[in-house]
Amino acid sequence: MDVIYDTVLKIKDSVDVYISTGEPDICTIQFYHINTREKLSIRIAPEFGEVLAALDGVSPIAELMSSLGFVMDHGEFEEIIEYLLARGILEKPSFTDPDSRYSRQINFLSDWISGIPAHEAHKQIVASDVVVFGVGAIGSSIAIQLARAGVSRFILVDNKLLSLQSSERHPYFSTEAIGDFKVDALKRHLEKINCDINVTCIREKLLPHTELSRLVDRASVVVNTADEPYIGHTSIKLGRYLWGKKIPLYVAGGFDAHLMSTGDFYVPGESVCVDCCSGFFSAALVDWKPSYKIHKTNESKTHVVGGSGGTFSMSLFSASYAAIQILNYIAGGDAYKSRLSRRGEYIVGKGEIEWVSIKGRGDCSVCGK
Ligand SMILES: [Zn+2]
Repeated sequence: MDVIYDTVLKIKDSVDVYISTGEPDICTIQFYHINTREKLSIRIAPEFGEVLAALDGVSPIAELMSSLGFVMDHGEFEEIIEYLLARGILEKPSFTDPDSRYSRQINFLSDWISGIPAHEAHKQIVASDVVVFGVGAIGSSIAIQLARAGVSRFILVDNKLLSLQSSERHPYFSTEAIGDFKVDALKRHLEKINCDINVTCIREKLLPHTELSRLVDRASVVVNTADEPYIGHTSIKLGRYLWGKKIPLYVAGGFDAHLMSTGDFYVPGESVCVDCCSGFFSAALVDWKPSYKIHKTNESKTHVVGGSGGTFSMSLFSASYAAIQILNYIAGGDAYKSRLSRRGEYIVGKGEIEWVSIKGRGDCSVCGK
């Protein structure tokens, strides 16, 4: 007996099947990947649809075929089964507990990350260390999304306190937490999501002399949203250090009133480096001089009176975009690669994302892009 007939198979949970039987001896079966929206169609003997429907992930194929009285040319049958396995329509039942906390995500990873079993991709997410500089609206929303996806170790770096104004855009805001360090309030929020999570709080501002090795050397990915003293400067400091350590840096959108930016993902050896990106935008924006109208009695505060504004929904766009790229990277995917060295911004007035391709200096000794 051929191996395939002893195999136990099932249709993937993330695949919908539509069968149309308009013709007498042939039917069209359309498979629809719910996660990735991809479609696949085959035309085959109508009885094959009955075999597909009978695949229960428990009984070997030979047993199902004999109970259905189904007969088909062996070579042709094996070929179609191999094809459906290769296209991710059929699978061998895995040991994912459908009631487990991450079963839906693992189901999604099975379509999103190719070349690695979904539970392995998920383990890589859980085993990741993420360091977040700046836990305002965007940094905290990224941390929360990664924690919900299973990331279990975080270092949070921010010296600011939660204020009443934080209620607008900080997802972990509560009135009882006003006056607490942001990192402490976020840590409590993350622990409510996952009681096994390990969060270290650093109540400091990232400064030119800050010693980075104690903070980032173990990181799988570092996220920077620290806009004080200025995100361009903090990103250069982090980007240069991390490139040498081969640790990726995500500079998440939101800075300079670009609340709906996709941000920049610096992946050593793959993207342009942080110096090239900075040089590219300095040249592109040479005539652009922002003017900030800070109220005279309020100079010590970061709240810009009469300046830019935005909603929590807008910061969530940037945070979600960044979190998706980071998750793809740490799970072992390659979808993030097509967005490297490009910066997009969702223009609310138009309802479109405008993209800029970032060109490095060809002779750059760091990235050579
Ligand atoms: Zn470069």
